[in-house]
Amino acid sequence: MMNISKRLNLSGLAICAAFIAAPALAAECDVTIEADDAMRFNPAHIEVPKTCETFTIQLKHTGRLPKLAMGHNWVLVKQADLNGVARTAMAAGESLDFIDPTDTRVIAHTALIGAGESASVTFPVRKLQAGVRYSFLCTFTGHSPIMQGTLTLTR
Ligand code: ZN
Repeated sequence: MMNISKRLNLSGLAICAAFIAAPALAAECDVTIEADDAMRFNPAHIEVPKTCETFTIQLKHTGRLPKLAMGHNWVLVKQADLNGVARTAMAAGESLDFIDPTDTRVIAHTALIGAGESASVTFPVRKLQAGVRYSFLCTFTGHSPIMQGTLTLTR
């Protein structure tokens, strides 16, 4: 009994230490975004610091539904291109994971994932321009009108 409680305490300490040790600065050039069965991105707004050379998106599907029913991806576009990209993605269809590979308006995108899965994408921050409004969306059929967020380049 004593052994078990000791071990629990130790692992608790180890978890605390890991949090403290995580460098705060490194975290600024990446973000984890959750996508759920209610077609929500969390967070729905991302700020990309201009000082980052690259920026990484970690997409996590926190829902319960499989990819075929509730697939999610993370696709970065200029806000003005959102509807056009959503259309070509839908036309590309499921076999291409809802991404038209010839659509040059897509700035970055992750793979399409289902419940419990995650995917990431890293893109060069120089692809973003100051003063331009960017959006991210899920291009799975029917998701883009609800499932979108905004992204800005910050100082
Ligand atoms: Zn989706």
